[in-house]
Amino acid sequence: MSLVYDAGRRVHVRAPGKLNLSFEVGHAGDDGYHDVASVYQAVSLFEDVWATHGDDFSIAVTGDVDVSGVPLDERNLAVRAARLVTRAVGWNGGIHLDVHKGVPVAGGMGGGSADAAAALVAVNELVGGGLSGSELQELGAELGADVPFALLGGTAVGTGRGDELAPALARGRFDWVLVPSDGGLSTPTVYGELDRLRAEADIRPDRVAPTVDPAVLRALRAGDPVGLGKSIRNDLQLAAVTLQPELAVVLKTGTAHGALGALVSGSGPTVAFLAGGEQHGRDLADRLSGDGLRALHVHGPVAGARVL
Ligand code: ATP
Repeated sequence: MSLVYDAGRRVHVRAPGKLNLSFEVGHAGDDGYHDVASVYQAVSLFEDVWATHGDDFSIAVTGDVDVSGVPLDERNLAVRAARLVTRAVGWNGGIHLDVHKGVPVAGGMGGGSADAAAALVAVNELVGGGLSGSELQELGAELGADVPFALLGGTAVGTGRGDELAPALARGRFDWVLVPSDGGLSTPTVYGELDRLRAEADIRPDRVAPTVDPAVLRALRAGDPVGLGKSIRNDLQLAAVTLQPELAVVLKTGTAHGALGALVSGSGPTVAFLAGGEQHGRDLADRLSGDGLRALHVHGPVAGARVL
């Protein structure tokens, strides 16, 4: 591998946000982590990351969304990703990252993970690191369970912590309308609330690993939004709604306006509604906006992190 330095070079990578179309959460292990079985779909809401050479590691963040909650230091997942790649390939210089966020922060759509995935690809490209896709996947899994999927994109089943991925077939395109929330939800808080609710109701999930409902995969394969709408589910939804009760109203509103399916994405609080096609997606977004909600019409599946 021969590393390259070109002071003026700027590499631009785009990575998508994700929805979890099915999210089954199993028993928490001794380390506090839960086994999950998730169906991810990458959707057309993107993070853009530009990597350039720098004296040290630094980051600047702008966005179409409120970016005030994004750390600009070593806690930022993209900075950690840049450091991981440089260490892995033996590059001694620094990296500057410019990030433009399109995915709501702390919204359950994996925006930080998408930044990390984009930074892995961008820095590898910038320094000529020569890391393969599977090497980047391994580095990504060190940063967070959703990072490998942001690299892969498309539609995939994730097991383990969500980072053991198998691509899933999805025919055609699926139209989604997203309603982001003003306040974010912290993923560990939502898992904590799920554990609390389960303990209260004396629900002990099986110790066997959770599995994805075959009906979800069948509907994706058939390109059948009606079937998909009936089968999408998220075990974290009740916990997210308990923490932010106004989400129940949002879910009901979209359903009343004819969404084929409705769910909180990941740990929330973004709510996703499934539409029957492009025109239905536009109509649904208009109706939700008419009710004073912020509604974004997106589609999936789209590609994972890639150099533009
Ligand atoms: P999760 O992947 O945990 O489901 P999420 O999709 O709900 O996360 P993110 O926007 O990825 O939410 O960020 C969650 C938290 O991670 C933020 O509140 C922030 O403190 C931290 N964070 C670290 N790096 C980033 C980043 N590049 N962009 C956004 N948040 C980041």
